Amino acid sequence: GYSRVCSRRSVCSSPSRLQSCMSAWVIDQYGTNGLLRHTEEITIPTISSASEVMIQVHAASLNPLDISMRGGYGATVLKLRRDPLSVMNTDSEFPLILGRDVSGVVVDCGAEVTHFAPGDEVWAAVPPWKQGSLAEFVTLTEYEVSHKPKLLSHTEAASIPYVANTALSALVNAAGLCRDSSSNKRILITGGSGGVGTFSIQLLKAWGAHVTVTCSQNAEGLVRGLGADEVVDYTAVNVADQLEIMEKFDVIIDCVGGDTELWAMGLLKPWAGAKYVTLVTPLLHNTDSMGLLDGTFNAVCNLQSKAIQNIISNGVFYRWGFYTPDGPALDEVSRLVDAGKILPVVEAQFPFAHVPQAFQKLEEGHARGKTVVRVA
Ligand code: NDP
Repeated sequence: GYSRVCSRRSVCSSPSRLQSCMSAWVIDQYGTNGLLRHTEEITIPTISSASEVMIQVHAASLNPLDISMRGGYGATVLKLRRDPLSVMNTDSEFPLILGRDVSGVVVDCGAEVTHFAPGDEVWAAVPPWKQGSLAEFVTLTEYEVSHKPKLLSHTEAASIPYVANTALSALVNAAGLCRDSSSNKRILITGGSGGVGTFSIQLLKAWGAHVTVTCSQNAEGLVRGLGADEVVDYTAVNVADQLEIMEKFDVIIDCVGGDTELWAMGLLKPWAGAKYVTLVTPLLHNTDSMGLLDGTFNAVCNLQSKAIQNIISNGVFYRWGFYTPDGPALDEVSRLVDAGKILPVVEAQFPFAHVPQAFQKLEEGHARGKTVVRVA
């Protein structure tokens, strides 16, 4: 993992004494974009534990997860995670604030916070079981937060944390890659033109890997500009045929899912420790449709049987990749951004008043990087 070196005592100045409610976009039930509601009457999330950091949100960005969560995706697992012992006064998650990325300024710190002080410019990916960043303030633990890159505006910075934490978790924890072990590796990213893909290309190039990407023809310029070595247009050719004539891969990061693994597994080097990591997993769909225990059991059995089958027949590892909150990992990304090795890829920006339009844009698909919402 990553370690933090700086240590600074915090000075507390609580805006909550001046103000008790904030502006936010919420949903009061699961459904369509029409249910998104702007309100000025959400209680400010003040510091409730010694390790928390309260952030004034300057910009947020949207992820496919926001569209899914708006429709109720993951509700069973996330509800349990929010209140594992059922001790909260209410059994409702509503009004629920979506938005997973934040770039903003620290306004208050718990007594034991050592890395941050009020006034610090920070960025973070808000875990899906916490209230999101489409609001004036968000409160996180200091382990989830990181100092934002100095070179980026808040709007640019907000485009990175959630996809960065996801990509790092998938590449490091699931695929076993790191900065020092990637230089001779051949990596395939399916879905290279979206949020996770555009970040992963740049990170892997910064680590010295050889990167092949699948995307639509009109995204080729974008992914090549970010450093992709080989690009296969999945809309024009039989993508499997095209990739099969290439040298085999050490790692595949699958940002597309569906039947991709059926044809892509054979593109990995056999019996050489190669890994297939998919970000599109059935876990939350299963727990939503079958309940927590049956759904988890079913998904884990499915994972185990695929993992065993692939190691036996293809000599490759099959794994799931997941977003993991990790402030120190973002510190590392911050350094790469400030060194000019990773650029933000902001496709669209919306003012806070137009959050439903931002959701609409995301729901139309065909992302080319990220959609950001300017909050302050
Ligand atoms: P985006 O919506 O930002 O990007 C998806 C990209 O894939 C788009 O650019 C799209 O463009 C492209 N695409 C669609 N179909 C194909 C195809 N068949 N071949 C190649 N490219 C294709 O999504 P993200 O990058 O944010 O996330 C990717 C996936 O990973 C999503 O399914 C998301 O839910 C999942 N995810 C999972 C996480 C986890 O914790 N497990 C965390 C984060 C993301 P076009 O259609 O124009 O080709």
